[in-house]
Amino acid sequence: MAEPAGISSLTLNRLSVYLRCLRQLQDSGVTHVSSSQLAQQFDLSAPLIRKDLAQFGEFGIRGTGYRVDDLVESLIKVLGLDRAHNLAVVGMGSLGSALARYLSVNDKPFRIVAAFDVDGRKVGHKIGHLTIHHSREIREIIPQTGAQIAVLSVPESAAQSCYDDLADCGIKAVLNFAPAQLKQAPSVRTKSVDFQINLEELAYFLSC
Ligand code: NAD
Repeated sequence: MAEPAGISSLTLNRLSVYLRCLRQLQDSGVTHVSSSQLAQQFDLSAPLIRKDLAQFGEFGIRGTGYRVDDLVESLIKVLGLDRAHNLAVVGMGSLGSALARYLSVNDKPFRIVAAFDVDGRKVGHKIGHLTIHHSREIREIIPQTGAQIAVLSVPESAAQSCYDDLADCGIKAVLNFAPAQLKQAPSVRTKSVDFQINLEELAYFLSC
């Protein structure tokens, strides 16, 4: 799926980092910050901060910097975090359950509204207020929940068929944890996360 309006994933990732840093400043009572101060305090790049933010509008005042509250609010809007996002989890094993617990105790705009598995010991059981459904019900249940994002935390062998079911029933974005090279649907923004790849990158640097 194409990058939205030419904004790269890397830029979006950096906006999330800026938001996290600005929230820390907010919590410690800081009201104004310049790009240089932000860069210095959080080990970021001031020119990159200015360049990234300039893509979304005029936020700072020359000589004064940014009003922290305003910039937090703007970044929340830019990142689409000013509204709730309904999320489905497919695969309620160690990872899926940990994620469900994390999201239920954190004040995030992400709300789990559906959970799926195939294990007879899990299907029909509750996790918090949610009942775990069998994955053969994905196509029927997802449209009833308003979920637009799905987390895929199933074994590699099950990943593609679950992904296809999710794509077919209107899911718009998938965060995939399975170590599978998915054949992606053009209508679904797909992001894969893999600890192994990151560890292998670190191993490379250790062996240099
Ligand atoms: P797990 O075995 O604890 O959980 C997998 C769950 O998926 C089980 O509950 C199983 O019943 C369920 N499942 C199997 N087929 C299914 C299907 N068709 N539909 C729905 N559910 C199904 O495994 P885990 O440790 O939670 O890991 C989940 C996945 O994430 C695995 O693919 C694993 O390799 C991967 N993983 C990725 C990372 C990462 O960094 N990306 C880290 C750990 C695990």
